[in-house]
Amino acid sequence: MAQEDVFKKLVAHCKEYGFVFPSSEIYDGLGAVYDYGQNGVELKNNIKKYWWDAMVKLNDNVVGLDSAIFMHPTIWKASGHVDAFNDPLIDNKDSKKRYRADVLIEEQIAKFDDKINKEIAKAQKKFGDAFDEAKFRETNPNVLREQAKRDALHERYSKAMNANDLNELRQIIIDEEIVCPISGTKNWTEVRQFNLMFTTEMGSTADGSMKIYLRPETAQGIFVNFLNVQKTGRMKIPFGIAQIGKAFRNEIVARQFIFRMREFEQMEMQFFVRPGEEMKWFEYWKAFRMKWHQALGMGAENYRFHDHDKLAHYANAATDIEFRMPFGFKEVEGIHSRTNFDLSQHAKYSGKKIEYFDPELNQSYTPYVIETSIGVDRMFLSILAGAYCEEQVGEGDMRVVLRLPAVLAPVKVAVMPLVKKDGLPEKAREILNSMKLEFNCQYDEKDSIGKRYRRQDAIGTPFCITVDHQTLEDNTVTIRYRDTMEQERIKVDDVYGIISKNVNNHELFKKLL
Ligand code: ATP
Repeated sequence: MAQEDVFKKLVAHCKEYGFVFPSSEIYDGLGAVYDYGQNGVELKNNIKKYWWDAMVKLNDNVVGLDSAIFMHPTIWKASGHVDAFNDPLIDNKDSKKRYRADVLIEEQIAKFDDKINKEIAKAQKKFGDAFDEAKFRETNPNVLREQAKRDALHERYSKAMNANDLNELRQIIIDEEIVCPISGTKNWTEVRQFNLMFTTEMGSTADGSMKIYLRPETAQGIFVNFLNVQKTGRMKIPFGIAQIGKAFRNEIVARQFIFRMREFEQMEMQFFVRPGEEMKWFEYWKAFRMKWHQALGMGAENYRFHDHDKLAHYANAATDIEFRMPFGFKEVEGIHSRTNFDLSQHAKYSGKKIEYFDPELNQSYTPYVIETSIGVDRMFLSILAGAYCEEQVGEGDMRVVLRLPAVLAPVKVAVMPLVKKDGLPEKAREILNSMKLEFNCQYDEKDSIGKRYRRQDAIGTPFCITVDHQTLEDNTVTIRYRDTMEQERIKVDDVYGIISKNVNNHELFKKLL
């Protein structure tokens, strides 16, 4: 199936099974804003818990924070967001559609990569085990030609972005003959900058209200609380502060479902270190965060690092962790070495001294910062994209199954009486009641057992427990495993242990230590 179709199906599946709904749907929706349904909210909460426990519980020197969304407006002046939180935008005059100029060019670069990869795949098929990819890349004329074009474009683009040269970005789009995907024409406007922050007013207008911003990232709430947490928690450098919370960006190119939203959620951690030690910690957190993703078992080949060409004004190193979405490898998480930029700026703008006295060095300094920043919603999308699977089961029968990691699955176990009589519902309820405070369980007695299994497959429930007449005689049940569809007879007393072993975080955390 084409990847585009897979994505369409995934979006439809999210709606049909109560994962994600368009916001304000009965009023025809609100662009790039979404609501999470009964299963979506469970999956989202499980993702947040997996992150929180891995960052705050597993690391002795990381603590949590929950700062307010509204903050003093000068914070955004200090952070640079008022002056420099801009996207370069370009409009197509025929379709009247607006695009991010940088995204159009990056997509063009990706096209060269696709061509090269296709050549490699073709040769690999032809030569089999004898194929030497490195040599092929060095010698094949088609690959060399495409690679040279790609590198030249990439260099020109990086230069233009770093110099913030909007005319050059437009010229690249024209020279590359990039067309609007809607109108198919090259009739482009100039490139303009657009600030992504939402504003609102605080206080009544009569006594002079204050313009405030909805935060576009949660990180600044951590920076402005650095001294509060360090002093009250008697934290010693190196240490980190983690927070999960909403962020808002007035994104112009709002496509791709929950990949790019105007209201979304971030999980961010700022790790404060001695100046000069930042690269060591940058490498440490890069490795730790990649392990965190891969521990979920969605396939190591589906993740990769992508180092930034254009560093933000505050950063001295930056990389993204990308996941293979149905529309290509895309950023899910950013890891940035932010120097002492933010703390220094807040010291300057607030007039307060923001420093740390290091007892070992017997000196004060402004700490450097490594940031790990991941979007909950993008993580959610990556997990669903990796888990969604349509498969043939038996003759002419299909099932849609979400192969979600058991720790993240919205429902861990469904308990089902085979029939709605003879005391089976009561027994099923008794088993469910013994587990429901520990895991999210579902009781289901409607329709045939086969249909009930399919419903659970479609929301990714890893285990189904079926209660039948034999249960009343020997206290055993059937457990059915989602991925293999295998069924086994087990003792009722063993149910809790089997499920618990698979659905709690402990096994995953062993891989992170
Ligand atoms: P992009 O280049 O895709 O716009 P970004 O580099 O601006 O993303 P960061 O500012 O580094 O993103 O934000 C950290 C993380 O927050 C991203 O890796 C992503 O997971 C998430 N995120 C950022 N913007 C959005 C958005 N509009 N919708 C959903 N998640 C987002």
